[in-house]
Amino acid sequence: MVFDGKKLAEEIKASLLQETATYPEKYGRVPCLSVLLVGDDYGSQRYVASCEKDAALAGLDCRVIRMSQDSTEQQVLEQLEILNNDNTVDGILIQMPLPKQVNTEHIIAALNPAKDVDGVTNTNVANLWKQKRSDYSRFCVPCTPRSAMRILKAAGIDLDGKNAVVVGRSNIVGLPVSKLLMNENATVTVAHSHTKNLPALLRNADIIVAAIGKAKFITSDMVGDDAVIVDVGINSDPETGKMCGDVDFANVADRCTMITPVPGGVGPLTICSLMENTRDCFLRNR
Ligand code: NDP
Repeated sequence: MVFDGKKLAEEIKASLLQETATYPEKYGRVPCLSVLLVGDDYGSQRYVASCEKDAALAGLDCRVIRMSQDSTEQQVLEQLEILNNDNTVDGILIQMPLPKQVNTEHIIAALNPAKDVDGVTNTNVANLWKQKRSDYSRFCVPCTPRSAMRILKAAGIDLDGKNAVVVGRSNIVGLPVSKLLMNENATVTVAHSHTKNLPALLRNADIIVAAIGKAKFITSDMVGDDAVIVDVGINSDPETGKMCGDVDFANVADRCTMITPVPGGVGPLTICSLMENTRDCFLRNR
C-alpha cells in the first residue's frame, strides 16, 4: 500500500474546519498560530506560505511575523516576548533555521512552553521522555513525529512488540519518533551515521522510519519483505532534480506492506499536526 498523505491531510483540515467553526460561539474566537520568520531562507518562506494557506483551510488564524535577515538576537527575543505575552496568540512556531548571529538555543529557551507548538522547549522534551503512553492533549510533541505516528495509526499498523528501526537521531525527528514508537510498545533501535551494518538491522525491521536527509539512501536490498516504511526525508533527486525521500521508492515500494511516498506522504501531514498542536494549546490554555 502506498499511503496517501495528501488525502488524509485534506480530511484532517476539513474536520478541523468543522470543529473550529463552533469556537467563536463557544470560546469567543478561533485558535491563533503565530509564526516567527527571521530572514529569507527559501525553504522557510515556502513552508510558512503553506502554513498560512492550510491554517485558512482549517479555520485557524495564522499571523506571520517577518523579521529581516540581519535581525539581532536581542530583537528576536523582544519580538518573542511580545508573542509569549499576547493572550490572543495560542501557538508560536519559531521557523528554523535562524540566521547565524541568532543563537537558536537562546531563542528556544525564551519560548513559552505552553505555546510551543513544535515541542522544542526543554519542558516539552522532558514531558515527552517522561510520559509512558502518548497523550497529545497534555503538551505538544514535534509535528513531524506526530504525523509519522498518525500515518501508522491511519494505516492500521499494529506496533505492539514490533521491531522498529528509526534511521536518524535528530532532536526534531529521529529521537521523538523513537519515543512515540516505544510508547506504542514497539521495540526500537535508533540508527545513525556510526551504526554498523545498517542493512542487516533494516532487513530485520517490521517498521522503518527514515529521517536521514540522503536521497534514495535505503535501497531494496536493505529492506525485508513486508516492511512498513515511513519516509520522512526531503531531498533533491541527483538524477532528476525532483523532490525525493530517503528511500529508493521505485525499487522498494512493491515489497512493502505500506510505504509513504515523497512528496505526498509525511509532508502534507506535518502542517496538519502544527494546526492540531495549535488547537490543543488553545484548548489547554483557556
Ligand atoms: P539531521 O541532519 O538533523 O539528522 C540526520 C540523521 O541522519 C542524523 O542522526 C545522522 O546521524 C543520520 N545519518 C546521516 N547519514 C547516515 C548514514 N549514512 N547512516 C545512518 N544514519 C545517517 O536531519 P533531520 O532529522 O532534521 O531531517 C531528516 C530528513 O527529514 C531531512 O531530509 C529533512 O529534510 C526531512 N524532514 C522532513 C520533515 C517533514 O515534515 N517531512 C520535517 C523535518 C525534516 P548522526 O547523528 O550520526 O550525524
